[in-house]
Amino acid sequence: MKTLITILLLSTFGLAQAADLTVDVSFPNASATKVAVDQQARTIQFSPIGWAWWRFKVTGITPGETIRLHTKGPANKDAADLKAVFSTDKGKTWRVTPAATQLGAQVVGANVEYAVTVDADEAEFAYFVPYTTEMARAAVEESVIQIPGAKAETLGKSKEGKEVHAVRIKDTGVPDAERVGIWIQARQHAWELSGSWTVQGLLGWLATDEAAPLRRRAEIVVVPVFDVDGVDAGLTMQPVNPNRLWVDDRPVIYNKTGNGGRGTLESYAEGPADAPLKPGFIRVQKPHEPFPQISQAMKLIRDLDKRGRGLAVFLDLHNYAYRGTDAMQFWKVAQRADLSEAHRAMFSRFEQAMQSVDSTPLRVRMVTHEAYAGLGKDSTAPIMAGRWVMASCKAPVALTQESAMQQADLPLQDPPQAEHLRRGALLGRVISKYLEP
Ligand SMILES: [Zn+2]
Repeated sequence: MKTLITILLLSTFGLAQAADLTVDVSFPNASATKVAVDQQARTIQFSPIGWAWWRFKVTGITPGETIRLHTKGPANKDAADLKAVFSTDKGKTWRVTPAATQLGAQVVGANVEYAVTVDADEAEFAYFVPYTTEMARAAVEESVIQIPGAKAETLGKSKEGKEVHAVRIKDTGVPDAERVGIWIQARQHAWELSGSWTVQGLLGWLATDEAAPLRRRAEIVVVPVFDVDGVDAGLTMQPVNPNRLWVDDRPVIYNKTGNGGRGTLESYAEGPADAPLKPGFIRVQKPHEPFPQISQAMKLIRDLDKRGRGLAVFLDLHNYAYRGTDAMQFWKVAQRADLSEAHRAMFSRFEQAMQSVDSTPLRVRMVTHEAYAGLGKDSTAPIMAGRWVMASCKAPVALTQESAMQQADLPLQDPPQAEHLRRGALLGRVISKYLEP
């Protein structure tokens, strides 16, 4: 009995000592909504803005205590094995949390729990290691120092007036007439940050001796963060999907209510651009108004295609899943029937290049995504970047590269972004192999 009283006293004393947990979502790239803190249970309940991305700072932690995060599970059947990340050094380094547990329906509005023991009085928590506009700027600066022939480039300013950072690499080598163009961009969709980490890995690889032959015969443009406004705002994705607005100066009509109300362009109105709108459909009159960087990217891609041997490779980096079996999938976004013999041959050579590069334990695969392949088939249809590039440039292999944020059979370990950096190097090797003379 005496022991029990002591324990009760100690725990009461302990509770009295614990400061209130405070959640901060006010800084750039932070994202959480419906935040509710149970100070006694040391539990923070929240939802991401949109369906995926979340990041916030917590203060008032008693070092050594376990904080519980309750959030809506991502749209993945095996969400219970997911890990999140946390940082106790103001976002400089990140560690993985223990795997989530499924809570079932007993917590309203939340169904996954991350229980994290924190050895500091404040910490940041996020779905995955953040990659911000500021980090894109730093990556470009670092590339200019590390990669021979690299220069800082910009796609101009976003709607909110933020610089869209890029790097252009053109090392001394073959004459301009013999050069090929390469364009790689990530983060049209703000939450899909493994694309930016892949770019970071690719830039690291481009600085190595192994990349010298590629640097000497190509002109390469790399964009680490495309939707800078969405990334800084901590959005899962912009209300209007930039990757359906790659059109030349015409309105786009799309179904705003589809895809669980998230807005999708997979279902779009057919017919003339001035046709009456069906319920739920909206017309975007000036598709590049929300994303001036699309106009600038189109111009720079066309310029690249006009020079030397033209644009040879275009890759648009995305995430197909929170958890998937393949580290990388290359999605063809042109319809099979549309493909010229020349394009078919290019895709199959690219596939051979993929297979020739050792991707163990990361897996790479090329797939045709029929739903996306249908986009752009008539005059009002929205168009994805890869498809616009295929239609507008001489002979590129244009692919949407989709990756799993966490690979199902490769549990996330510290440092969490390591596999993503390896994917970037792998990507460099595939492109280099594909362009080998
Ligand atoms: Zn995407």
